[in-house]
This record gives sequence, structure tokens and C-alpha cells, in this order.
Amino acid sequence: MTTIDYAKIGLKIGLEIHQQLNVGSKLFCSCQPELFKGEPEITFCRYLRPTQNELGQVDPSISFEFQKGVKFLYEANYKSACLVDMDEEPPHLLNMDALKVALAASLMMNMQPVDEVHTMRKTIIDGSNTTGFQHSSIIALDGWIKVGEKVIAMQTASLEEDAARKIGVEDDGKTIRYRIDRLGIPLIEVTTAPVIYSPLEAQQVALAIGRILRDTGKVMRGLGVIRQDLNVSISNGALIEIKGVQALELISTVIEYEIQRQFGLLSVKEELCKRGVTKDVLKPEFADVTDIFRESKAKVIRKTVDKNQKVLAVKLSGFAGILGKELVPNFRVGSELSDRAKFWGRVGGIFHTDEMPNYGITVEEVVAVRRAVGAIEGDGVVFVADSMENAYDALKAVVDRAQELLIGVPTETRVAKDDGTTRYMRPRSGAARMYPETDISVQTITDELIKEVLSNLPEPAEKKIERLMKQYLLNDKLARQIVNSECDTLFEDIIKETGVVASTVAVFLTETIKSLKRDNVAVENVNENQIKAIFAAVSLGTLTKEAIIEVFSWLTKNEKQTVQNAIEALDLEMFTEAELEIVIDQIIVTNKAIIEKNGKNTIGMLMGAVMKEVRGKATPELVNKILKQKI
Ligand SMILES: [Zn+2]
Repeated sequence: MTTIDYAKIGLKIGLEIHQQLNVGSKLFCSCQPELFKGEPEITFCRYLRPTQNELGQVDPSISFEFQKGVKFLYEANYKSACLVDMDEEPPHLLNMDALKVALAASLMMNMQPVDEVHTMRKTIIDGSNTTGFQHSSIIALDGWIKVGEKVIAMQTASLEEDAARKIGVEDDGKTIRYRIDRLGIPLIEVTTAPVIYSPLEAQQVALAIGRILRDTGKVMRGLGVIRQDLNVSISNGALIEIKGVQALELISTVIEYEIQRQFGLLSVKEELCKRGVTKDVLKPEFADVTDIFRESKAKVIRKTVDKNQKVLAVKLSGFAGILGKELVPNFRVGSELSDRAKFWGRVGGIFHTDEMPNYGITVEEVVAVRRAVGAIEGDGVVFVADSMENAYDALKAVVDRAQELLIGVPTETRVAKDDGTTRYMRPRSGAARMYPETDISVQTITDELIKEVLSNLPEPAEKKIERLMKQYLLNDKLARQIVNSECDTLFEDIIKETGVVASTVAVFLTETIKSLKRDNVAVENVNENQIKAIFAAVSLGTLTKEAIIEVFSWLTKNEKQTVQNAIEALDLEMFTEAELEIVIDQIIVTNKAIIEKNGKNTIGMLMGAVMKEVRGKATPELVNKILKQKI
């Protein structure tokens, strides 16, 4: 892709960052915010009923899911879920620790806290909340952060509850399985104004916000604890909401692809216009072409036909060559139609003539299908194999999407994939989705509370770097590495508890661990307490500095073992002074002639010989001391 002038195309990006908070319990109950593995202790089922908001409106997408009889199967265990999570009991009081962290983050982003926290219900259509809605409370508004030289306007900071984890779909295709251990874990949601004008800038802003959130010291660590949603628009395109970008470094790619996708759709619109395609010629008229595939060699279709299901086809006039057009890598116009068919028709996918012959479908079969729908040269045909109901809904969605191609880019909610491309998720939800929660009382934010939060405000990263340099005499590079790798607390704890030289600890926690990681050592297998224990051993003189890496590496391969176990297993027990003297005496005897000739000038040479013998089992300081006494 050639370089794009982002200002010229009117690119505007807003970010919505969700980060799990680590405050010991969930947002509205005291359950452990912990995910469980293995078999659940409790399972229960729910059908979601569409709820009306106070104006009596029902979200169309909710009633849709309801009509289709979708069932939700929830799994839980006692440690991470209670009656609140199962919607058998009203929510308890708002978690004050979570509120304090949200306030701290808001104040660090120069936002104005609200006077009263009102908890709202936000309708959630997919069953990921047992109640059918998610709680959300605005904590602060209107702030700013500095990213490089630019000031980025911040819109809101809210407290929300995380949703249940989707585990899978049962074979019936209508039962969705969720785990509610994650449901109710506090999240802070931070939104920027749409004032970001390039993909790279979006990534830098997300990094800066993530940094501030981590600076609170109260956020979860690991995979899946931060999620970035992007609102992307360009002048002639549409506002697209992209959900669920998990990796920070993917943000710019996702935006670049989205621009590419919108450009591609705009050129398709132009091409269809040129071909004289209008809405009227794209009719939802479906032909039953099941008979054509009775004896088909194409397994994907035969499976359906043999089950007595249907193959339906629709003509898309003037669409030849359009469906196969690639918008972004591995994503074609046909994929746009297919995504809609999957969502609205619950089918596995669609077939279209731009990709034929394929999947074992023969030229003859394609010709027959084209004839059945009355397609002439220049037309495209889409067909679907599934139950009558699903196939019908799927093709209906295909025609709707094909008609939208004539308008340009439809506004919608999409979900990000790991390769940076996006897929259709659902229609963009309207404002009808929020209404007040009456079971939770309003929480006043008093001046005292703000004062308390202000007096405990964490140290911002840049200040911390400066302090580490001054306090521990570290150079800028090491101090920065420690703060960036977020081991500053561990670093300071180790020094406070053990008194080991700061630069030794710093180099180990940053450069050494990084290079071990590069060599595929599973550094994550060693926890912070074990690392502390290694330095405690150094400080006690039971381990030499030189053997730190050896012990650490051993611990990565031997889980649940202690530093002492490592020292014994590696035969690194330190020599006592008496034992050391025996070794030294022997070396003196061996080198008697040279010592008699050169006297004290041989100490350096002897040091080398002794250290070679006792490597990792005696400190050079002690060896040197004994040698000096003896020579
Ligand atoms: Zn609970």
C-alpha cells in the first residue's frame, strides 16, 4: 500500500481501553477474581428474555437472539462465583478499593471526578452476563494526557464488570457455554476523544494510557487483562467500532487494514455504479438448488443434502469478479457477505461463483446453479447449504449486505483477529442500551475521599526513573529498563530486604532475564519470592553472585523447589573458611617454587588457580583474604 496522507482522508480515531483491576475481589461481591481450570462445581442454564428500557424500547438484536431460542449454559466454582454472579441475589455495595483505583487513574489523567457515582445497566445481548446486562458507572470526565508533545483529550473513566468467558458452543448450535469466574471482575474503562489522527499515534496513546493504569499498581498482569477497542472513521467511509484488540503492537496494523478495507469498499461502490447495478436488481429471491447436489462429490455440500437439508442460491446481478476482490489480506468482498450470513443465518459460510470451481464442486454444477437462478454473464451467484430456515436467513443477510455495497461503508461493530484483520461482530448498538440500576445505591464521592486518593497517588513512570537513578546510582538505561519491564517494586524490595548491590540486582532483573528468555529459558516459572530468596542467599553468603544465573535456570526447570534445593542439586554449597584453606594450601604447595621466587607478586596467578577450583563455591573476596594471610 502506498503511503497515505491520513489528514487528507480525514482519519479520526478514538480509543476505549479496558483494564482489569486487581483489588482482591469482584466489583459487586467478595468472590475471588480468579479463573479456574478443570471441571466446574456448578452448572446452570438460562434463556435470556429481551428486556425493555424505560422508554419501552427493545434492542432489535436482542429480540433476534431470543427468537432463535439461544440457550446459555453457565459453569462456575464456589471460589470465584456466588449468588450475585448467578443473578440469584442483588449486587452488593460497590467495591471501594476499585473505586479508589479508578479515581487515582482518573486524577493522573487530569479528569474531573463526578460528585455521585450512578450505576447503570448496559444491555448485553450475547449471554456473557447472567443478568442480560453489564453494570457500568462513570467515575470521572474531561481530562487530558500528554503523549509526546501532543495533548490528548480524555472523555470518561468508568468502572465496569468484566463479562463471563465464552468456552464454546454445543453441537446443537444453539447452546452457548460460558464460565462465570471472570464475570464481575472490576474493569476500568478509559475513553479518549476522537482526536487521534494516525495509526501509529493511536498505538502511542494506548501505550501511554496503559502505562498510567499500570502505574496505579493495582491492575492485573498477564494475557487478556487489557483490551483495546478502536473507533475508526474516514471522511467518505463510516465510523467503525473495532472490539477486542489484545496486543498493543497490533493497533496500528488493525487501523491500517481498516482504512484499506474502507477504501476497497468505496472502490467496489464505484465499480458497481459504473456497471449500473442498483438496489432494485438485488432481489431477495432464492432458488432451491438442492437437487443439483444430490450426487455431488463435494463433501461439504453432500453432508448437508444427505441430512435432508437445503441448498439455496441467489443471483447478484452485475457482481461477477466483485465477490473475489481482496480487501485486506485473506479477506474478500465475499468474506463481508459470508460474515453477515454466519451472524444472521447461523451458517458455517457461503459459496460464491468467483471462487468456483472449488471444494469439489464441479463446473457442471456451477453452470446448473447459475441457470437455476437465471444468472447471465457478468452476474455473481451465492449459495448456502444448511437447514431451510438458516439458509434463508443467511441469503437474506447476503442480499442486504450486497445492497449496502452500493452505499459504501456500513457503520458496524467489528472484532479484531490476531492477524490484524477484522470480522463483522454485530450491528452498532443504539443509545437504547443504558438504563439506571435501582438495586445499587448512589455512591457519593466526597472531598475526603478525593483527598485520600490524592495523598496516595502513585509515582508516574518518568519521576520513578529519575528517583531510581538518584537513589540507587543507576544509569538512565538501567533505570528505564527496570521501570519499563515493571519490576521496580521487586527491585526495590530485593535491595531493602537483602542489601545486595543495586546494579547487580538491576542487571539481573533486566538484561540477564531478557537474554535467558531469548535462549528459551522459561523465566516465568520462577516467581518473585524465589528471586528474592536467590538474592537473600547471596546476601547471607551461602551463594556467590557468579552462581545466580545457574540457580535461577535450575529453578525454571524444577518447579516448586527452593533456592536451597537448587544449591544442593547443583553442588554449589559454599566452602567454609576451613575447607577453603585446605584447597588453598594444596595450590600453594603445587606452586611452591614460583612463590618462593616471586613472593607477593604471585597472588594474582594463585587467585586464578583457586577460583578455577572453587568456582561458585567461594567469593573472590574471601579467597583473596586468605591468600594474603598465607603469602
Ligand atoms: Zn460473587
